[in-house]
Amino acid sequence: MLEKVVIANRGEIALRILRACREMDIKTVAVHSTADNNLKHVLLADETVCIGPPASADSYLNMPAIISAAEVTDAVAIHPGYGFLAENADFAERVESSGFVFIGPQADSIRLMGDKVSAIQAMKAAGVPCVPGSDGPLGDNADENLRMSREIGYPIIIKASGGGGGRGMRVVHSEASLAGAISVTQAEARAAFGNDVVYMEKFLERPRHIEVQVLADSHGNAVHLGERDCSMQRRHQKVVEEAPAPGITAEQRARIGERCVRACQDIGYRSAGTFEFLYQDNEFYFIEMNTRLQVEHPVTEMITGIDIVKAQLRIASGEELSFTQDDIQWRGHAIECRINAEDPKTFMPSPGLIPLWHAPGGPGIRVDSHVYTGYKVPPYYDSMIGKIIAHGEDRPTAIARMKNALTEIVIEGIKTNVPLHQEIFQHSAFQAGGTDIHYLEKRLGL
Ligand code: ADP
Repeated sequence: MLEKVVIANRGEIALRILRACREMDIKTVAVHSTADNNLKHVLLADETVCIGPPASADSYLNMPAIISAAEVTDAVAIHPGYGFLAENADFAERVESSGFVFIGPQADSIRLMGDKVSAIQAMKAAGVPCVPGSDGPLGDNADENLRMSREIGYPIIIKASGGGGGRGMRVVHSEASLAGAISVTQAEARAAFGNDVVYMEKFLERPRHIEVQVLADSHGNAVHLGERDCSMQRRHQKVVEEAPAPGITAEQRARIGERCVRACQDIGYRSAGTFEFLYQDNEFYFIEMNTRLQVEHPVTEMITGIDIVKAQLRIASGEELSFTQDDIQWRGHAIECRINAEDPKTFMPSPGLIPLWHAPGGPGIRVDSHVYTGYKVPPYYDSMIGKIIAHGEDRPTAIARMKNALTEIVIEGIKTNVPLHQEIFQHSAFQAGGTDIHYLEKRLGL
C-alpha cells in the first residue's frame, strides 16, 4: 500500500482524501497556500508544506511546487482531488516522470477524454451512445456543414473540442446563422483554449443530466457503480445530485453501465471516472468523461457502500479491484446538497468568518465539510464550503432527512445557499423527480 500521499487540493475534498488515507494507515502531506494555514485537513495532516501565495496559479496550480513538496517529504503518490490539476494530463505525466504515483488515470487517458472530438470517437468505437452529430471536426466547406446540419436537424449546437466548464458552445436555430456561429465559436475557442477545432451536435432541448460512475484497476478489471442524476443545475453548475436517477430501470442501468465498463477496458482506463450523459426520451447520449473523482461521489458511496476514494488509493497502489460487477448492490436513495458561501438570491460569493457552525446529524445524514466554528472562508477560491448527503431506504425518506438537515444546520456570519435548497425541496416537481437541466433556472426566473 502507498506509504505517504500528498493531497494536492484544499477544502472539503482534501479532508475527504485525508480521512480515507488515515483509515488505511497512509501518512498524509497537506500542501496549501498561505491563505489556507487553518484548513481542517492542514491541521490534521501528518506533514504540511506551504506551496505559495493565495492565488491558485501560484499555489494549487503550481506543478513544480507540488512535486517538490512530494520530494522533500518522501511521499510516494499525489492525489489531485477535483478541479485544479485533476484533469491536467501534463501534470499527471510530470508526477509520474518524477517517480511518483498519480492517483488517477494515465496521462494518455486524460488527454484522450479531455479533447471532446477524440473522446466521442473513442466512445463511439466502444459502443457508447453519443449525440447525433458530425462525429469529427468541422471543415471549412460551408455546403458540407450545411448538409450535415440538415441531416442532424435543427436546433444544433456548435461545440469547441477543447472546451470545458460550459464554455465554447453555441446553439444554432436556423440555417441562416450556421456559418456565423461556426466562425465565432472557432475564434472564441482559439482565444480561450488555444485550439479552434469545433464540431456539431444535435441540441437536445429538455434533457436530464445522468452520469455513470466507474472504477477500473490496472489489471483490466472495471465495474460501474450505477448512475447519478445531476440535472438540478445553475449555469452548468450542479446544485443538487442524487442516486439512483429517478425513473431509470435496472435494465437501463445495466445496459448503459455495461457500455461504460467496456469503454474503460477499450481505452485502458484506470482509477475512478464518470461518463456524463444527456438523457432524453428514454435514451442516453454521451457528452463527456470526467477522468477524476467528482464532487457528487458520496451519493454513490451511500447507496453502494463502496468507498470510492479508498478504491482509488488501492488501485493506485497496484491492487486489483476486490469486487466484481455481481457484488455491487444498490440500497436505498441518496441526495446531496452543495453548500456554497454565496447570496441565495444574487449568487454573489460571501466569504468571511463563521463565528458559529453547527452540522446537522441523525440517521442517514453525512456532512462532508472542512468548516468549523471560527473558520474564515477565504475569498480566493470556489465558494463551495461543504456538502450534506442524506441517505434513506427510499427517495421520500432521503428527502425528509435532507429537509430536517437543512433546518438544523447553523452557519453564522456569512450568506449561504441553504435557503435556496430549502426552497427546492418544497417544489412539487423536485419531489416528483426527473426534472430536466433547465428546470432550476426557469424556476428561479433566470
Ligand atoms: P463542458 O465540458 O463545458 O462541461 P459539456 O459537453 O459537458 O461541456 O456540456 C456542458 C453542458 O452544456 C451540458 O451539461 C448541457 O447542459 C449543455 N449541452 C452540451 N451539449 C449539449 C447538447 N448536444 N444538447 C443540449 N445541451 C447540451
